[in-house]
Amino acid sequence: MESRNRCSVIIIGAGISGIAAARVLAKNGVEDILILEASESIGGRMKKGSFGGVAVELGAGWIAGVGGEKPNPVWNLAVESGLRTCYSDYSNARFNIYDRSGNIYPSGVASDAYKKGVDSAIRNLREDEPHNATTPETPIEKAIDFILHDFEMAEVEPISTYIDFGESEFLVADERGYEYLLYKVTEDFLLMSDGKILDDRLKLNTVVRGINQSTDGVTVTTEGGCVYEADYVILSVSIGVLQSQLISFNPHLPVHNNFVL
Ligand SMILES: Cc1cc2nc3c(=O)[nH]c(=O)nc-3n(C[C@H](O)[C@H](O)[C@H](O)COP(=O)(O)OP(=O)(O)OC[C@H]3O[C@@H](n4cnc5c(N)ncnc54)[C@H](O)[C@@H]3O)c2cc1C
Repeated sequence: MESRNRCSVIIIGAGISGIAAARVLAKNGVEDILILEASESIGGRMKKGSFGGVAVELGAGWIAGVGGEKPNPVWNLAVESGLRTCYSDYSNARFNIYDRSGNIYPSGVASDAYKKGVDSAIRNLREDEPHNATTPETPIEKAIDFILHDFEMAEVEPISTYIDFGESEFLVADERGYEYLLYKVTEDFLLMSDGKILDDRLKLNTVVRGINQSTDGVTVTTEGGCVYEADYVILSVSIGVLQSQLISFNPHLPVHNNFVL
């Protein structure tokens, strides 16, 4: 059966953006909020996993942009919450690449594939015809293509994080994970006990499928058929989720060349 609930602001997504938005609202006296999160926990792309008995970061691992003129808010939160970090200067960093059986690729094979990937990227930049570039084929070429293009070069210089907040980077080296920072932030405004969130203003496992705006406010519909009403909605899902069209909007979001603006 359909249930209806009304509040001032609905926040969709409990990653760092959604949680930070909720915290700002709470600090400014807006406590009549509802956070709807699709997964079973807060954190979004800040998420830890376990590998060989130790905690590893599956998403964000570094705090980038420290030591500049402006204070980096993420760094401030890390310091406030006592998150353990270490300075990261990359001078002795190396990537190990493993095959599906868990065997490490010999460094010669990896460096040849890396050189091929770099040469292809440089050719791609110099030539107007991108189809002249080599397409990665083998598993190791694909892994290196990912590191080189999706990981290292996805953001175009100049990168505002480094300009605004400084050029230093710190690696999160804390068994509690980067996500610990989020739980510390959440303590400020949601009811918690023993590290668990007990506040019913956070609804986990709740996938939003529809957002309708009207003169009366906003109506949000979930996969389970619940309908929530609010004066305002803050949507913090990724561009990828928007492009997947999982969520229907009324009125539609503006779209240009298949990209949601
Ligand atoms: C592998 C990886 C490594 C990274 N490394 C770094 C790094 O070292 N340093 C750094 O600063 N950043 C890094 N990032 C980026 C960083 O993790 C993200 O920018 C940041 O966590 C995004 O936070 P967000 O709240 O904007 O979005 P998200 O974390 O994506 O949060 C959005 C939330 O919305 C929820 N959601 C989605 N759809 C729905 C729906 N329909 N209904 C309800 N809820 C929904 C999701 O479950 C999610 O919890 C990395 C990201 C990845 C993936």
